[in-house]
Amino acid sequence: PDKTGTMLYLNGVSVSFDGFRALNNLSIIVHPAEMLAIIGPNGAGKTTMMDIITGKTRPDDGEVYFDGRTDLTRLDEADIANLGIGRKFQKPTVFESQTVWDNIELALKKPRGVFPTLAYWASKAETDRITEILETVRLSARKDELAADLSHGQKQWLEVGMLLAQDPKLLLVDEPVAGMTDAETVETAKLLKEIATTRSVVVVEHDMSFVRDLGSRVTCLAEGTVLAEGNLDQVSANPLVIERYLGR
Ligand code: ADP
Repeated sequence: PDKTGTMLYLNGVSVSFDGFRALNNLSIIVHPAEMLAIIGPNGAGKTTMMDIITGKTRPDDGEVYFDGRTDLTRLDEADIANLGIGRKFQKPTVFESQTVWDNIELALKKPRGVFPTLAYWASKAETDRITEILETVRLSARKDELAADLSHGQKQWLEVGMLLAQDPKLLLVDEPVAGMTDAETVETAKLLKEIATTRSVVVVEHDMSFVRDLGSRVTCLAEGTVLAEGNLDQVSANPLVIERYLGR
C-alpha cells in the first residue's frame, strides 16, 4: 500500500505484552476528511491501536504514518498531540466548575499539552471560533451554564468541542455514545459526520445502530488484526464477523 495522500497509515503493526500479541500485523488506512468506524470484540486490540497512534505504546514492528509523511513511531505523545491528533477517551473530562463557554476558551488558548489558564481576553477571532464550535457540538444554548450541570451526553459533546478547539486533523474517539440517551446518540452521529467533512475521524464503537447512523467505512478487528472491512452491511454479513463478534 501507498501512504501518499493518507491521513493515517498503519502497515503491518504488531505489538506484544509479555508474549501476548495484542496487535498482529495490523494494517489500516484513513483518508483526509474520512470517518472510519472500528468494531470488534473485547480484547481485539482497538484500544492498543489508539495507543499506538497517539504514541502511548510503541509498536514492536510495522509502520505508523500521519498525514502521509510523519513517522509517528519516532515521536513522543506530546509531539504527536501537537501534530494535530486529538483523542477522546470514553469518560468525559471537562472542567466541571467552569462554564461551557470557558471550557472551550480554555481549550482554544491552551498550548497543546500545557495546563491552560484564562490569562487574557479572547480576541474577536477566538470568540468567533468558540461560537462556531459551540454550534457544532450543539451547546450554544448552554454556553453560560456550568459544565457540571450538563447531561452526560452533553459533557461528551463539550469534550469533543474542546478537542475541536485544538484544530486536529485526526480525531480518535472511543465509544462516544456509551451512556447516552437515544436522542443524544442520534445527534452524536450527526455531529461526528459534520466534523468528518473536514477532518479524519476514527470511532471505536460497540453500538451497531450508532455505527449504522455514522454511515462510514467499517473495519472489524479481532485478535489484533483486520477481520473484515467495508460498509456495515458487508462487514456484518461476513461469516467470520458473525462468528467472532456479532453472533456472541
Ligand atoms: P480492545 O480495546 O479491543 O478491547 P485492547 O487493545 O484493550 O482491546 O486489548 C488487546 C489485548 O491486549 C487484551 O488482551 C489486553 O489484555 C492486552 N493488553 C492491552 N494493553 C496491555 C498492556 N499495557 N499490558 C498488557 N496487556 C495489555
